[in-house]
This record gives sequence, C-alpha cells and structure tokens, in this order.
Amino acid sequence: MRVLLSNDDGIESPALWRLALEVAESSGIEGYVVAPAEEWSAQGHAITVREPLYAERLPASGYPLPAWRVSGTPADCIKLGLHSLLPEPVDLVVAGINQGFNLATDVLYSGTVAAATEGVLGGLPAIAVSSGHESGTPTTYQFPAQVTCQLLNLLSDQMDHPWLLNVNIPATDDARVNGVWITELGPCPYIDVVRSDEDEAGRACYWLAIEPHPDRPVAGSDWEAVQKGAISLTPLEVLRLTKTNHFAGLVPVVEELQARLGEGAGPFG
Ligand code: MN
Repeated sequence: MRVLLSNDDGIESPALWRLALEVAESSGIEGYVVAPAEEWSAQGHAITVREPLYAERLPASGYPLPAWRVSGTPADCIKLGLHSLLPEPVDLVVAGINQGFNLATDVLYSGTVAAATEGVLGGLPAIAVSSGHESGTPTTYQFPAQVTCQLLNLLSDQMDHPWLLNVNIPATDDARVNGVWITELGPCPYIDVVRSDEDEAGRACYWLAIEPHPDRPVAGSDWEAVQKGAISLTPLEVLRLTKTNHFAGLVPVVEELQARLGEGAGPFG
C-alpha cells in the first residue's frame, strides 16, 4: 500500500513526522509527504488559483519519507501530489496527525478534513486523523501514529473505492483508551463567541473564539467518544451533497417562479 501524507499544521508539524516515521517503519506501507510550508488550520478547503504554486523537494537524508514542501494550502498539496509530484500512484490519502481534535462542525472548517476530502475528490479513499492534546501536556504522537498505521493495515482490502474516515484519537502516549467507537458527527462541543478588543493603533477589532458547550455530548457522537477517552471513527459522505428530500418543498416555489417568468411582467418586468 502506498499513501500520500499531508497535514494542515504545516511541514514543520512534529505530529506529521511522527506519523511519517511510523509509516516508514511499517511493513507493507510506503508513503510520500506533501505538506504546506505554513499552517492552514481552520482554513478549510481553500485552493490557490490566482498565483503559481511552488514545491520544494526536501533532502532525502534526514526525513523518513520522500517529501515536498508546497507554498499553498492542504488541498493544493493533495492536488499537486496526486497529479504532478509523486512518481507513482498512491492507494490512499492520509491527512494528519492534526494537533487537536476535529469533531462535529469542525469538519467544515478543518484543513485536515479538507486534505482528506481532496483525496476522495481524486478518486481515492482517505483518512483524516486528529489527536487531542491538553495544553502544556507534551506528547510524542506515537500512540495515534501507531493506531493510524494499524487502521491502514486493517482497511487495506477496502482500497478499491473512495471513502472518507474522520478519526479522532484521545491524547495519550499509551494504549489505555476506552475502546474504538463508530460515531456520528455530534453537535459542536463548544459555542462561538466574539471577543471585542483594541489593536495597537487603538482601533476596535474582534477575535473569533470558543467556549466549552454547557450541554453534555449526544450519545454516540464523536464528541462523546473522545470525552470518554475512546477512539472515534466517523465515516463521512462527501460526494453526495444534494438534499433530495427538499425536492418536494421546492416544487411549488419553482411552479410559481415559472408562472411569474411566463407573465413577462411583475418582478421580472
Ligand atoms: Mn491543524
């Protein structure tokens, strides 16, 4: 199995290289790294189309896998990797290990999930891996890297069609986790707040911030899994975004809009 690794925390991320090392040391898995020069956390599925992209091959010595540093976004990295940089096709895209969970609506903002989604758009299965870490608590990311490679091995017979798996692994450097759960995306584990501030020039400015959600996590959600110390696996649907059960509600709207268009007057006259 050959994998393309990327990471929205940027090419300097220690969690990226811990996973790359684990891949390099795993029998039966080969890999390439294509990662952004800068951090792109919470920048979603942005791509670079108004300026050129630059890719620099990192020196072979000193890195566990062949690797490129790219001037663009995580999604750019996957596009460049799959369509230009890599010397051979890969079977799967792995985005991560992200430093911090990607739960619930995080997946809409996450550059990690976006990189994995780009793999699916490229026709491949993909895994987005995130690991929570409490601030001030050092972690080597060894355990989430080992879990990720075990998952790659166990999923190796499902590489013939695209799918996307969002994986969240609790912060730990040992194997004392509370099981492995298949979960749904939960309600968001925090609430949005906007903090008012003043910049150095005295101008009013604002910071997007979050506070812990007062509710308890919904049973069976990814939030509940990681709160209880379990590994969370959430399969995501990305290719079928059309909401077909809204068709019926749109029919009278379409009929009325067509009638008004046909009158040649009124709002369109
Ligand atoms: Mn990130």
